[in-house]
Amino acid sequence: MPHRTETDPHGFKRRGVLFVLSSPSGAGKSTIARKLLAADDHLQMSVSYTTRAMRPGEQDGVDYNFVDLEKFREMVANHEFLEWAHVFDHRYGTPRAHVEAILDSGRDVLFDIDWQGAQQLFQLAGGDVVRVFILPPSFKELHQRLINRATDTTEVIDARMARAANEVSHWDGYDYVLVNDDADQCYRSVHTILNAERLKRSRQTGLIGYIRGLMK
Ligand code: 5GP
Repeated sequence: MPHRTETDPHGFKRRGVLFVLSSPSGAGKSTIARKLLAADDHLQMSVSYTTRAMRPGEQDGVDYNFVDLEKFREMVANHEFLEWAHVFDHRYGTPRAHVEAILDSGRDVLFDIDWQGAQQLFQLAGGDVVRVFILPPSFKELHQRLINRATDTTEVIDARMARAANEVSHWDGYDYVLVNDDADQCYRSVHTILNAERLKRSRQTGLIGYIRGLMK
């Protein structure tokens, strides 16, 4: 991916952060993502494309761009995705142009993608990617959360539980791993990680000019 920059609170130019949040579904990742976006003007969500059906309460273009298989395949062939993967028998992909537009606008990008996406994005953009994995307090609790969410059939919930174990087995492909046993605390930790990553020396491309000025 091309080199992008944005301005940090001190006015230095820096590279945008590609901030990936992954977890088994139901571990509270969407709530954390929502809170981050509400609290942070310099962060924007990457809205993926998917071939899965829209759930009640979801909006096309907001939660996902919902497309059929033919359209998805066409987008893959045209290299319109930064990464894409099969998840739960459906396809999900991150649109390249959308992510580049966010970076160009001077914001960091938040991704709610699975371990396959995190891996592909890391291969593509290396040091610009920060990977955070959210663990549920227990699988029993995760099961209960999926039931409480009441958006999926029992069959789908069972499939999600089976997949959760697989998702968790990829925990070691992440830079940060947190347990979501307290939603507020977990959100605060994730925001702290984002802010610390923004201040990393390697991202602060504009810092050198400031240092030179100091030394004059
Ligand atoms: P759901 O169908 O519950 O919204 O999402 C299912 C899984 O697909 C979640 O783990 C989510 O993180 C993942 N996912 C959503 N969008 C993408 C994407 O663009 N790429 C990849 N690799 N995974 C995605």
